[in-house]
Amino acid sequence: MVQEIICIVCPRGCHLKVDPENDYEVTGNSCPRGVTYGKAELKNPTRVVTSTVKIKGADLKRCPVKTDQPIPKAKMQEVMQLINAVDLEAPVRVGDVIIENILDTEAKLVVCRDIG
Ligand code: SF4
Repeated sequence: MVQEIICIVCPRGCHLKVDPENDYEVTGNSCPRGVTYGKAELKNPTRVVTSTVKIKGADLKRCPVKTDQPIPKAKMQEVMQLINAVDLEAPVRVGDVIIENILDTEAKLVVCRDIG
């Protein structure tokens, strides 16, 4: 059955139609990136995870973090549990790696802000 999704690769937000029964044919895209996104979104949807973690020894109570690459949406909940268990100590720098190879996805959880 054809599925309708919105392409989130750029702000234009094309309304894509993806047909899993026809080799994941994508229509409604305004550029080739929509085809790539539409196929991936149905076959193996992924997202970059952004969140915050607790930090001690700083004025801020939480430190923004993100994965350095998209991870499968199916692992999102488990990743959030790992993120919620993190307890950082200041200082931290942008790009510091908090968790390597999260759940064998090869993604790293990294710091997004300098906190002294
Ligand atoms: S299909 Fe291309 S133009 Fe349309 S939203 Fe996706 S990236 Fe943007």
